[in-house]
Amino acid sequence: MAKILILGAGYGGMAAAVKMQKSKIPFTIVNKHSYHYFTTLLHEPAGGRNDFEPYYVEISDILQESEAAIVKDTIVEIHPEEKRVIGERDEYTYDYLVFALGNAPEFFGIPGLAEHSLLLRSLESAKEIRSHIENMFAAYAVDKDPSRIRIVVGGAGLTGVELCGEMAEWLPHLASRYRIPDSKIELINLEAAPTILPMLDKRLQDTAREVLESKGARIRTNEKIVRVGEGEVELATGEKIEAKTMIWTGGVRANPLLAQAGFDCDPRGRARVNEFLQSVDYPDVFVMGDSAAFVGEDGRPLPPTAQLASQMGDHVADNLNYLLNGQPMKKFTFDYMGTLASLGSEVGVGNVKGFSTKGVAATVMKEASKIKWLINLGGISLLARKNRQFTRSH
Ligand code: FAD
Ligand code: NAD
Repeated sequence: MAKILILGAGYGGMAAAVKMQKSKIPFTIVNKHSYHYFTTLLHEPAGGRNDFEPYYVEISDILQESEAAIVKDTIVEIHPEEKRVIGERDEYTYDYLVFALGNAPEFFGIPGLAEHSLLLRSLESAKEIRSHIENMFAAYAVDKDPSRIRIVVGGAGLTGVELCGEMAEWLPHLASRYRIPDSKIELINLEAAPTILPMLDKRLQDTAREVLESKGARIRTNEKIVRVGEGEVELATGEKIEAKTMIWTGGVRANPLLAQAGFDCDPRGRARVNEFLQSVDYPDVFVMGDSAAFVGEDGRPLPPTAQLASQMGDHVADNLNYLLNGQPMKKFTFDYMGTLASLGSEVGVGNVKGFSTKGVAATVMKEASKIKWLINLGGISLLARKNRQFTRSH
């Protein structure tokens, strides 16, 4: 039996693993944690909504030992010519490799940014943001340093906007806990481009901006961050903003292990793949999700999203099944469902299958995509368990 090794238990890796399990294909899956976290929802607990428990699931609750060997390890090197992968704890060999290790932050070489900013990219980083802000509010109650309750979010793409939507609802509660007047809190979202949410139409951009501003966030477009220091963010205009919380949501690139291993990568470090999602260099390596440069109909790589990663995961599992059975593989096509941005717990904006949506309807649709993912992973029983946890943690 061919040895199949999946690296990463995010949206791509888990979609592939679940499908392979259904097809009774044995595989090993290596991930740095024993759990899979729901990245698409992490702005919620990072920004003060709910406990963290509903936002992850143990991989062993989803995958059965009969097909899946689950290994907790952090991958540090890949040697595709030797069909060998090195982790911090062990080495792994394969006949087919499925690379699904996600992304890395894109810092664009901005001085001080990596050293002095928080990121929203994993369960731990979400916990870090929440506890850092809580600590800052507690410290402000003692020393009254205004930079402790001034929060800067760098980038108003989907991550930045969704996080601001949550924090704008949470910060007033935090302020009241520490008896700080609301008027003293500042939540500033800095965006280098002329508009927020460039993937949505102008009407939805304006709605998102109005909603966030009505909740107290300050959205500043055409403001490029050029340097970050300890407690200070500098803009291209020369203005310096004193803030002890700087959260960077300015973009992502692929996991650097691909470029380090010599894969042919695009400028964002994503490995170029063919129509079957095989690396163009190594046909025994499938690459998916945020790590893959799959060229769409407009000739450009598709943007990295969970809906793309999970569809790719499904497809790679099918193609491996075909390969193992001596059948021809199928070409990957992306079924774009749309984009939805939440603006706090109650409203959102977005478009679904070409139709614009806003308000509560957008929130309901976002909820539907969460439900779909939970059912895909663990059926109705996982959905019911997570729903109980969400209800408890309100
Ligand atoms: P990931 O899901 O990131 O999975 C990578 C996995 O690999 C993780 O489990 C990680 O722990 C593990 N890993 C990483 N490095 C190593 C290593 N060296 N060794 C071992 N394991 C490792 N997309 C949407 O389509 N819809 C949304 O609503 C949406 N909302 C989002 C909200 C937020 C706040 C963020 C940050 C992103 C959102 N996205 C959304 C984007 C989406 O989360 C990503 O595109 C998606 O997670 C990519 O899937 P992936 O499988 O490529 O990588
Ligand atoms: P992004 O690249 O989409 O947005 C980053 C934003 O930061 C851009 O608007 C950019 O102009 C801005 N920026 C860059 N440099 C800057 C600087 N120096 N100063 C100020 N602003 C700067 O990144 P993201 O929002 O993290 O999204 C990453 C990927 O994840 C995207 O493909 C996105 O579609 C996906 N995602 C999807 C959802 C969703 O569907 N709801 C949510 C989050 C992320």
